[in-house]
Amino acid sequence: MAAKIIDGKAIAEEIQKALAAEVADLKAKGVVPGLAVILVGDNPASKTYVRNKEKACQRVGLYSEVHRLPESTSQEEVLDLIATLNRKPEIHGILVQLPLPDHIDQKACIEAIDPSKDVDGFHPVNVGRLQIGEKCFVPCTPNGIIELIERTGTPIKGAEAVVVGRSNIVGKPVGMLLMHRHATVTTCHSRTRDLAFHTKRADILVVAMGKPKVITGDMIKPGATVIDVGINSVDGKLVGDVDFDSAVEVAGAITPVPGGVGPMTITMLLKNAIEAARG
Ligand code: NDP
Repeated sequence: MAAKIIDGKAIAEEIQKALAAEVADLKAKGVVPGLAVILVGDNPASKTYVRNKEKACQRVGLYSEVHRLPESTSQEEVLDLIATLNRKPEIHGILVQLPLPDHIDQKACIEAIDPSKDVDGFHPVNVGRLQIGEKCFVPCTPNGIIELIERTGTPIKGAEAVVVGRSNIVGKPVGMLLMHRHATVTTCHSRTRDLAFHTKRADILVVAMGKPKVITGDMIKPGATVIDVGINSVDGKLVGDVDFDSAVEVAGAITPVPGGVGPMTITMLLKNAIEAARG
């Protein structure tokens, strides 16, 4: 039987409606959640992401300001801007769009953000708090993934969860969030010896490799919940890391690409910015 398709777009819209109501509530109390985005250079994908973030802020009623800086901007100028935004009371969340041009130290910029305004959850303080299970800003994509899993009704407690990918922005935090919810978590990466051995055991399979269609139906446990984080452009078409056509015949539930995890990432950013405004 074909899997249930997890409609990330519809779920994101539903959450954004609820967030708009929260923003209206905050505004009635005199607080307008504000998000500042810093974009350096002309990376076309980054420009699209930033435009989408701006539009999403408008949709739910957040104040947003986008600082579009030329490629030639120095690291000092970016750090000065972050320091200004850290002090600005109407800005509750600050996001530096990655990747930054090579001459700018990404780590230095992230660490310059006040952790209480770090709505991407990339500052080491938030990373550390996530690790020890303290209140923090959870990175947006992993947070969106958990939301999708929970909304499919898939039990996480006691489940075998396999995460393919160990990046700081997706693989590691999503593994941590699953573990906090009492899944038994296995993390696979490029040196994993027998990837299929692990993926076939997964009740919950999260794939964040950045390699098109590597996970095929025969690598999936029948009935598993499969979350495909990958975004790959193949012949001008966006495809995931999972071979959707074969996987959909085996999985119990699966996210499409596009329209699965993607819309959730921005939604979770808005959620974090609203949380930051609540203080
Ligand atoms: P990274 O490139 O930082 O990490 C990829 C991970 O996959 C690494 O840990 C790597 O292992 C592992 N990997 C690569 N090849 C294999 C393999 N053959 N077998 C097993 N593991 C492998 O990517 P990100 O985590 O940043 O992103 C992953 C994908 O998700 C990308 O397609 C990206 O575009 C997408 N993405 C989508 C988002 C969304 O909103 N939908 C947001 C963020 C990312 P190793 O560590 O050993 O190198």
